[in-house]
Amino acid sequence: MKYISILGSTGSIGTQTLEVIEANPDLYRVKALTAHSNVALLAGQALKFQPELVVISDEDKFAELKAALQGSPVKVLAGEEALCEAACAERTDLVLTALVGSAGLKPTIAAIRSGKDIALANKETLVVAGDLVTALAKEYGVRVIPVDSEHSAIFQCLVGEADNAVEKIFLTASGGPFRGKGRAYLENVTKAEALKHPNWNMGAKITIDSASLMNKGLEVIEAKWLFGLEADQIDVVVHPQSIIHSMVQFTDGSMKAQMGLPDMKLPIHYALAYPKRISSNFKRFSFMDYPELTFAQADRETFRNLDLAFRALRLGGNMPCIVNAANELVVAAFLNGQIGFLQMSDVIEQCMEEMDFIASPSLDNYLETDRQTRIFAGELVTKQVY
Ligand code: NAD
Ligand code: MG
Repeated sequence: MKYISILGSTGSIGTQTLEVIEANPDLYRVKALTAHSNVALLAGQALKFQPELVVISDEDKFAELKAALQGSPVKVLAGEEALCEAACAERTDLVLTALVGSAGLKPTIAAIRSGKDIALANKETLVVAGDLVTALAKEYGVRVIPVDSEHSAIFQCLVGEADNAVEKIFLTASGGPFRGKGRAYLENVTKAEALKHPNWNMGAKITIDSASLMNKGLEVIEAKWLFGLEADQIDVVVHPQSIIHSMVQFTDGSMKAQMGLPDMKLPIHYALAYPKRISSNFKRFSFMDYPELTFAQADRETFRNLDLAFRALRLGGNMPCIVNAANELVVAAFLNGQIGFLQMSDVIEQCMEEMDFIASPSLDNYLETDRQTRIFAGELVTKQVY
């Protein structure tokens, strides 16, 4: 029996993780669940899965959650500190981080420091502070098992290859809803259009990131830390069918790819069961449904975020943290109708140029960079200077 805590259980990854757990009651038990504000869903999950602890990070929702769980033995807490408590709950084997954004950094660090293995969906944590997080994981001897489909693919391709050097990896990208479109078209695209992803049904933030290719940029940085690669060893290839989830090229020129239908339950299932593979009843891939798998280059001139992320990766220090914070701010602004689709990259680039660069940041430096970049990016959006 594995005891699992889920940070961000009400989101797209969180709910799919609970589906995987529900389908395997002999293997998994839920220890703690957290959400930001969706009281009704979190309370329903708590009543169904009977964790020991639930946490709502929005403290204003505490009374409502407490009332919804009155009479049940589930302990209820609220706030950011409590999130870290959920991440550290005793006798937990695995913490699945499915919350969105840099809010995942502190609880992930808390979980590592308390010796928990991490199933990592929350890529922003590695983008912001990949050096600190991976060093801590090493120090505490915990595994960081990727949930992101591309990284799960690479991770699976590397099983049994511990002594063999990787020459290069190829992260596949669907290209999102605006694949093939130019800047003139993107000038006026709406939030509704950007939220229509062709292959995946995900939370709003990552769906916008997928449309702007920032998701792939964040994933390039995530891959650097997960697999210890240099920027030149990471490439991106557009693959609209999302069947090949990513590929590894070894030093002999041989390549391994991991394939499957685009369904996040597969990488979640793998991360929960790792290092085993356990059977599932997920729909099987049929070659006849996909007689053609195609590949193309990413359009880096239209979708500037990919190069901005590569630039941040090469510069290192707190630059990826700056990019991530600016991106979180502009995505929220785009979803609120305050900024256009193309202007998101302009604000991010200005933040990269204007914020103070720190070559070897501490955790406090990262937290402060995150805070200040959001303020600066917010001013740029409000004053419309981009
Ligand atoms: P989502 O928006 O559907 O869910 C986010 C969850 O985090 C919710 O439970 C929400 O309550 C919680 N949350 C939001 N803001 C928070 C905050 N400030 N503090 C604490 N909790 C907060 O997001 P998602 O699509 O499930 O994505 C979650 C993470 O997984 C992201 O980092 C995303 O990049 C990554 N990811 C998602 C997918 C996918 O298919 N959805 C695929 C790969 C990676
Ligand atoms: Mg991905």
